Amino acid sequence: MTDALLLDVRNVSVSFDGFRAINALSLALKAGEMRAIVGPNGAGKTTMMDIITGKTRPDSGTVTFKGHDLTRLDEPVIARLGIGRKFQKPTVFEALTVTENLLLSLKGIRSPFSVLFARESVQERQRLAELLSLIRLENMADFRAGDMSHGQKQWLEIGMLMGQEPDLLLVDEPVAGMTDAETMATADLLREINKTRSVVVVEHDMDFVRALDVPVTVLHEGSVLAEGTLDEVSADPRVIEVYLGR
Ligand code: ADP
Repeated sequence: MTDALLLDVRNVSVSFDGFRAINALSLALKAGEMRAIVGPNGAGKTTMMDIITGKTRPDSGTVTFKGHDLTRLDEPVIARLGIGRKFQKPTVFEALTVTENLLLSLKGIRSPFSVLFARESVQERQRLAELLSLIRLENMADFRAGDMSHGQKQWLEIGMLMGQEPDLLLVDEPVAGMTDAETMATADLLREINKTRSVVVVEHDMDFVRALDVPVTVLHEGSVLAEGTLDEVSADPRVIEVYLGR
């Protein structure tokens, strides 16, 4: 991995009806890095992800990814440049099996009916095995996604995103609603993914953030309030005030 910046969000602002949801926000991520984003409700975490993925256009500032200016690109183009986004709720095809869900993702197909005609190539079979192993669902390959636990559905969707080989994976509150064991397994999964990809994860669950053991960025009122290890930002008086001081 080089020291080059993979993602460079620079001085970005966006307002909704005159309300500044993102205020001169800057965030830089090196290739190979994983970053946790925390902050109280309304801090701008989701809006920041929306700006990176092209769902929301900034009023000012720039977003650069692998040297491309993303500010004027549409969502599908940005996704194809190598940014995968995992929303909070799992969106797997419940009627299909784990393998079928992964296969559709490998083929870039969005219609569940197409699985009837989808045959995997030798390469895809190999990749399916790798993805099943990554998300630790080898023993559930033929289970219907709809019969799995919430946590397993989240891992399946992460596997589906990985099938598209993103350079950067954005993950929004992955462990909400998970058991403690699932939460820790999710931290292991993201750390495994981070061996080959860059990851930005938004999360409220501090046990999970601690288990990730990565640099933390604290957002507040649309700006970066603090950056550092979890222990450093937790001891920062400004962070304590934002979380506890009202
Ligand atoms: P977080 O994800 O940190 O909870 P959000 O990014 O969802 O924060 O929201 C930041 C602020 O922007 C909030 O005050 C929210 O109400 C406001 N906001 C977000 N999206 C919109 C929108 N589409 N229209 C109006 N206000 C919005």
